[in-house]
Amino acid sequence: MWQTLWRPLLAVLALVLIFNFIYGTVSRKVSQDAAEIPYSRFKDELARDNIKGITIKGTVIRGEFRTSIQVVDAGTGGKAARQVARFTSNMPALQDPGLMAGLEAKRVTVTAESAETSPFVSAFIYLLPWLLIIGLWVLFSRSMRAQGPGAMMGGFSKSGAKMYTSQKATVTFSDVAGMEDAKQELQEVVEYLKDPKKFERIGGKAPKGVLLVGPPGTGKTLLARAVAGEAGVTFFSISASQFIEMFVGVGASRVRDLFSGARKEAPSIIFIDELDAVGRSRGAGFGGGHDEREQTLNQLLSEMDGFDPHEEVVVMAATNRPDVLDQALLRPGRFDRRVVIERPDWRDRASILKVHTRKTPLASDVDLTVIAKGTPGMTGADLENLVNEAAILAAREDSKVVTMNHMELAKDKILMGGERKMYLSEHEKRITAYHESGHVLVAKTLPGTDPVHKVTIIPRGMALGVTQQLPEDDRYHYPKSYLMNRLSVILGGRVAERLVFGDISTGAQNDLKVVTELAEKMVCQWGMSEKIGAVTFSRGEAHPFLGMKLAQEKTFSEEMAWLIDQEISAIIKGAEEKAEEILVSRRKELDTLVSALLAEETLDGARIDQVLAGVDEKGEG
Ligand code: ADP
Ligand code: ZN
Repeated sequence: MWQTLWRPLLAVLALVLIFNFIYGTVSRKVSQDAAEIPYSRFKDELARDNIKGITIKGTVIRGEFRTSIQVVDAGTGGKAARQVARFTSNMPALQDPGLMAGLEAKRVTVTAESAETSPFVSAFIYLLPWLLIIGLWVLFSRSMRAQGPGAMMGGFSKSGAKMYTSQKATVTFSDVAGMEDAKQELQEVVEYLKDPKKFERIGGKAPKGVLLVGPPGTGKTLLARAVAGEAGVTFFSISASQFIEMFVGVGASRVRDLFSGARKEAPSIIFIDELDAVGRSRGAGFGGGHDEREQTLNQLLSEMDGFDPHEEVVVMAATNRPDVLDQALLRPGRFDRRVVIERPDWRDRASILKVHTRKTPLASDVDLTVIAKGTPGMTGADLENLVNEAAILAAREDSKVVTMNHMELAKDKILMGGERKMYLSEHEKRITAYHESGHVLVAKTLPGTDPVHKVTIIPRGMALGVTQQLPEDDRYHYPKSYLMNRLSVILGGRVAERLVFGDISTGAQNDLKVVTELAEKMVCQWGMSEKIGAVTFSRGEAHPFLGMKLAQEKTFSEEMAWLIDQEISAIIKGAEEKAEEILVSRRKELDTLVSALLAEETLDGARIDQVLAGVDEKGEG
């Protein structure tokens, strides 16, 4: 809003300057043939009968000499003497009782002026601030109205800053690691944008909208940018959440803005991130911004339909919730192409790491494959972050290269949270050690569980201790036996606490949450309960958004709801009993593990095996 305010401010400033200038020249003119003289000098001149007349205003005397006198201005070193006919002087604050008599004796004309400034001037001075305030207010509200409803919220619907960014993309497919399928599919879009005429001659159907579907951080934005880079066209991007404002109509005008910008620069790509923010099915959801979203969506649809065949603009959009999108968006001629981007598997993770370490000096011991295998589930963004963290660690140690150790530490930090400095009493440490050892021992005993990568009782992130299991390879299917064992491992911590201390602590809270969610999914979505069988219920689903959940009909009876609860708790109970069985029978190993953990604080997978095999100190035996 300051862009609109500086003008009136400048005007006021100019007025003040002009006023000062005029006032200054006028007063300087007066002082040309006048001089300021000491009061004593004035008295001398009076005694010499050289005063013709004076005007007294407050303590200031202005007057005229009968014959002009010579004065020397201060600061000129006595060189600039001049004749003056007028003078000003200041009366001392002490009353000079003889003055009036002296003036009368010399027959000097005396005029007295009121010490107060003229009523007009003082009225003006009193009113000035109010005039300023009112003036600014008028200007301000006028510019506000000109900008439309969005202005009040600090945004601009049309004038002022653009909400979208446009640039020539510099990244290419070589900056995008892995995703060979996706690149393959998008190659066609590149061909089209590079040479639309040729593309149509060959008989290709011009692509209009491409929907990139995948979890956050998997490189959807990067890929869209790379398409623009490969084709050498301008890349317009905006996040759909920026369309949604408090005021109806703002979003629609932003959409219009974006499309007209892209049309001018065609061939070009428009990229809309988080499309689900505007693209949710209409008529669902409620509360503020609902009408606004519909208007914005309608505008988007009509812009996409309104493309002329010769307007070579491709709209790409990203979402991780394709299921909530309005069907109208997916119709032919709109986002009819869909490119699914999965989390990278370890091979892709290795190549992502390679891309992001291109400029990092790596020590010879760094094996990116090992890091890639140890980071299942991480996205490209996570891996980029990992490399970054490792480089920071190296810099902190003044190391010229990033070593494998730096990479491992960075990985731990991201997977388990940063280490936290906090004081734990010996007792709390013991509880934590038993809790974590419980997880470890159950995991070690049960077959088919993910290998334990590391266990620590150094507080990290939100947890007092962490047991980290990593799958050997990325998993896509989970058999019931695996899930049951997993439940036992998670409950192992709580069971160990109860076994040893006869009590359970709040430390197991997060474990319980995970357990409940997992058991609920097993029963309601994966049909893993024998009593209920192969049915799926909406229960336990991640709900797309609040409005839908409340509006949703319950598709099962009260009896079924009761049965579901029974089955969930039966599954959890079974898993807990299994964990207890294991820990009771291997109590001695549990104690061994705990003392090793208390002594060493962190144990990696190999060290855990050593401890369980009865090796006392690291490196020995
Ligand atoms: P999304 O849009 O899917 O949320 P981004 O495209 O914003 O993800 O990705 C975030 C960052 O992660 C990118 O800037 C990039 O540096 C990195 N990244 C993600 N995937 C890859 C990949 N396949 N190859 C290289 N870098 C990647
Ligand atoms: Zn735990």
